[in-house]
Amino acid sequence: MSETATLATKQNPLQYVTDQLNELRSKGVAPKLRVLEGEQRPVCVFDGQEVINLASNNYLGLTTHKALRKAALDAVKRYGAGAGAVRAIAGTMRLHMELEEQIASFKKVEACVVFQSGFTANAGTVSAVLGKEDLIVSDELNHASIIDGARLSKATIKIFKHKDVPDCERILQEHASFPGKKLIITDGVFSMDGDIAPLPGLAALAQRHDAWLMSDDAHGLGVVGGGRGSNFVAPTRADVPLQMGTLSKALGAYGGYLCASAAVVDLIRNRARTVIYSTGLPPAMVAAAIAALDVIEREPAYAALPLAKAKAFARLARLPEPVSPIVPVLLGEAEAALKASRLLEDEGFLVVAIRPPTVPMGTARLRLTFTAQHPDHEVERLAALVRTRILAHAPASAAEAQ
Ligand SMILES: *Cc1c(COP(=O)(O)O)cnc(C)c1O
Repeated sequence: MSETATLATKQNPLQYVTDQLNELRSKGVAPKLRVLEGEQRPVCVFDGQEVINLASNNYLGLTTHKALRKAALDAVKRYGAGAGAVRAIAGTMRLHMELEEQIASFKKVEACVVFQSGFTANAGTVSAVLGKEDLIVSDELNHASIIDGARLSKATIKIFKHKDVPDCERILQEHASFPGKKLIITDGVFSMDGDIAPLPGLAALAQRHDAWLMSDDAHGLGVVGGGRGSNFVAPTRADVPLQMGTLSKALGAYGGYLCASAAVVDLIRNRARTVIYSTGLPPAMVAAAIAALDVIEREPAYAALPLAKAKAFARLARLPEPVSPIVPVLLGEAEAALKASRLLEDEGFLVVAIRPPTVPMGTARLRLTFTAQHPDHEVERLAALVRTRILAHAPASAAEAQ
């Protein structure tokens, strides 16, 4: 830091904030917020401009489904706006219990506890079940909320190569005499790549090494495995003792959950700091999530649509067949991804460029999320653009990486 900068910091401690912002802006990683006008839909209006939206996690269009609107409105009329207290003291409503039972039965597990968000589910769970004498073995591409949850637990954290079961085993073997508990943790569907964790392999590994397995199915629930999530994807149904997910994406509401044994759920209720010290979910969101699960249970064919659209897109764009509605188009350098995103924007598509540090260096990409309601002709037009105007000009290394 230069002398003048040091002086400025001394004079105004908050100068630091401006410096940090300027640094982020100069790296191009502090983009202006896009503001949505109206509803979250596949074709919607951001900042006055209509776009076909491939950046939303509203996979099933449930945020605007009439059953969810009605459930949320009825809950407000019946129970008011907020839960009024933390769950452990006086904020647990009958509705919370109903939602937890419904999720547990949908996921075919013993018990479930809901949180205020997927983020607080991860942050609260990992630190409630593990402590500083324990070991976490974590996939290198896991979501930030898993990483933060792991850090909060103060456990030793080791990272295995993406989806690499032998590398995960190597770490477990190296820590065979480790005194504490061991937890393998992975996204179910990876948020930036859309690929699915090798859950059966990891489950077998966990059993062999006396470890626990936890999955984060924020992008799996509602859209893969008949809507029940990544551990229901054929051919092997995996036994995952700790299954976290969110109510905020395919379910179109807001909140998070952890499915586990009744004993683990009881422990979480008593020990997870994000449950104990933060007010419970508002009734409208709980009721909306219940309505969303009803829709998915009633119409499993509908839950298959986002993946079907993603597959149709990939086939036409000549990309590998996706296994979830998230399709990455790897372009390598950040500048290439930005340029491609701007090109698509000019054609009326909102497709975000994802760059380091969100993804590893050299793997900047477009990230497309398909939803049940994307019009087929627009999916086809987008595929043609990606194939002829973007991939045709991408360096060979980017094509190999796909
Ligand atoms: C979005 C997301 C979360 C957080 O869920 P929220 O309900 O939005 O807080 C956690 N994990 C993954 C993998 C996610 O993509």
